[in-house]
Amino acid sequence: MTIFDKLESEVQSYARSFPVEFEKADGANLITKDGKSYIDFLAGAGSLNYGHNHPVLQEALIEYISSGGITHGLDMHTSAKRKFLENLDKYILEPRDMDYVVQFPGPTGANAVEAAMKLARKVTGRTNIVCFTNGFHGVTLGALSTTGNQHHRGAAGVTLGGTTRMPFDGYLGEDIDTTEYLDKVLGDGSSGVDHPAAVIVEGIQGEGGLNAARIEWLQNLEAVCRKHEVLLILDDIQAGCGRSGSFFSFEDAGISPDIITLSKSLSGYGLPFAITLIKRDLDAWSPGEHNGTFRGNNHAFVTAAKALETFWADDAFLHHVNENAKILKSRLLEMTFKYGEGEINGRGRGLMQGLVFENGEIASKICKHCFENGLIIETSGADDEVVKCLPPLNIAPGILMQGLDILEEAVAAHFPVSLNRAAE
Ligand SMILES: *Cc1c(COP(=O)(O)O)cnc(C)c1O
Repeated sequence: MTIFDKLESEVQSYARSFPVEFEKADGANLITKDGKSYIDFLAGAGSLNYGHNHPVLQEALIEYISSGGITHGLDMHTSAKRKFLENLDKYILEPRDMDYVVQFPGPTGANAVEAAMKLARKVTGRTNIVCFTNGFHGVTLGALSTTGNQHHRGAAGVTLGGTTRMPFDGYLGEDIDTTEYLDKVLGDGSSGVDHPAAVIVEGIQGEGGLNAARIEWLQNLEAVCRKHEVLLILDDIQAGCGRSGSFFSFEDAGISPDIITLSKSLSGYGLPFAITLIKRDLDAWSPGEHNGTFRGNNHAFVTAAKALETFWADDAFLHHVNENAKILKSRLLEMTFKYGEGEINGRGRGLMQGLVFENGEIASKICKHCFENGLIIETSGADDEVVKCLPPLNIAPGILMQGLDILEEAVAAHFPVSLNRAAE
């Protein structure tokens, strides 16, 4: 019996899909203690957009630590925090003309979501929050009440309340703009939907199955929020930091959310780090009203600041991301044609795309097959029916292709009928 079996709770999940012991990592590769190398299409569930142990970030962190830089500083001003804020301003906020203040909640995504929801309720004096089908915002109680997945909700242990669920874009078919329904119920004093404090939404639903909201849908959603004086919270924890093909997933839509949550790849190095961006005039917090011990992960400030200046000072990195996204899209499309259009579909945007199978059983077999051949890849979606490609954004095109070859081999092995059909 391994020590993992002996001591680790049954709650572990990814460890079940990839039952080996990893020891080292480098770029898009994870390496086991026995020296076997895997291509990583999971990338810390989107926390490693710049890959494992990026040398520039690693060097900055080592230098900071060995020079005696502060590790824990509560929320006190530190030089590392100053540098992070300066770079966030210089490379992200100012070029996009975004006037937001930064709240440092606890270091996880759910912490950022809790802060956003609490602030929206405080600012408006209302309780209800509108959230969407297949939405995922974390598993602490507030965030969980906005999360759709029944497996997660079922573990709450209390009644999850204070939210109203609405259909996400595409939920009722391509032809239906579900924001029209939201507009209707918000304007109807007898709809039974309490006037909400906010709407919380993902630009691309990560855990919910790679559902990418259409640009017009996001624009219409913003218009409905403005019309009914409801705040718009954009949860960009997974789709942000370049994953969608721009820094924020909503940039193409040109919308201006009231509150934005970022975490996962924000530190750039896989260190726990989250922020809640708040439009300046909505910053209604009084000092210490929402706090937490770990609001100043200075190591994360160092790597985040370095990541911003390394990757976001010009368009070179984004260009690379979008080239990789094109490769991913065309390869996935090719697989759907080759092995069964209708049975297998492509979905998603940027470097957040995948294949949709009939059910979770098939998708999980595909992932297992991939793992046997050296590729780490996971499922998402209501029934875990979506095989999700989430490689590091800066993955070399050659390695991206290699990973996709492994995926294609697994798909081919599980769709022999379609293969024969294609050969006819
Ligand atoms: C992962 C995720 C969260 C929760 O982040 P944790 O760090 O796991 O708490 C919230 N929202 C979205 C969109 C996410 O993908």
